[in-house]
Amino acid sequence: MAAKIVVVTGGGRGIGAATSWLAAERGYAVCVNYARDKASAESVVARIAKAGGKAIAVQADVAVEADVIRLFETTTRDLGPVSALVNNAGILEQQTRLDEMSAGRFERVFATNILGSFLCAREAVRRMSTKHGGAGGAIVNVGSAASRLGSPGEYVDYAASKGAIDTLTIGLAKEVAEEGIRVNAVRPGVIRTAIHASGGEPGRVDRVAKFVPMQRGGEPEEVARAILWFLSEESSYSTGAFIDVSGGR
Ligand code: NAP
Repeated sequence: MAAKIVVVTGGGRGIGAATSWLAAERGYAVCVNYARDKASAESVVARIAKAGGKAIAVQADVAVEADVIRLFETTTRDLGPVSALVNNAGILEQQTRLDEMSAGRFERVFATNILGSFLCAREAVRRMSTKHGGAGGAIVNVGSAASRLGSPGEYVDYAASKGAIDTLTIGLAKEVAEEGIRVNAVRPGVIRTAIHASGGEPGRVDRVAKFVPMQRGGEPEEVARAILWFLSEESSYSTGAFIDVSGGR
């Protein structure tokens, strides 16, 4: 069986860290990408190594083309040919109405969430597609329930960026379906990570929980399990598909 080598963008914290860890448990060599928080990424790598797995931490801003190319080149050099990508890196900014948002904010949110996912998907397809001599693989995009809900009064920009991720998933899945690559998306609901503090409301999960049919927020590990299912051969006939991990919301 071919080696399983996965790039997890934003793999040092939150959902990405849970995904890196679970992927290592399931036998993947893991490239834990990070943007700024080197310590968190290195602690995920150390935990994986301590458990007998293989992982590297690679700094790269997914919104910068040269960084993304270097990310994939480093992974190929240090771990081997990439067989999977988890497009997880994502940001949101301070909760506010659209009529209060600056052009700079739109650019930052769209750059990381949309451009970053597109660049990483491109580099993955260039390496994994049988059309390019690759052995095939799987891409999992981390979208959001926000693409369905719209996030009014909080971050319509972020929600719209996740709408683009839904469409990327549908289109790219069809484009590479005959080339050995499956492309799917996991759409988390409100999950207990530090992302909510960056929106200005660290306690958002507990406030929103009462609007969730299951009456609670989710844990990063619950999202990671859905991501790993889409990465695995257990989902061999699924592409262009979505799993909502959102407690019924
Ligand atoms: P988080 O805890 O804030 O972690 C975000 C991760 O993304 C960090 O590892 C961060 O790197 C990385 N990142 C940010 N900008 C980057 C860039 N330009 N290049 C590379 N990496 C970058 O967030 P999270 O909650 O785990 O979110 C992960 C994904 O799930 C995101 O796409 C988010 O939109 C999505 N999601 C989350 C929720 C939720 O409720 N938590 C709900 C729906 C969807 P550093 O560690 O270096 O800062």
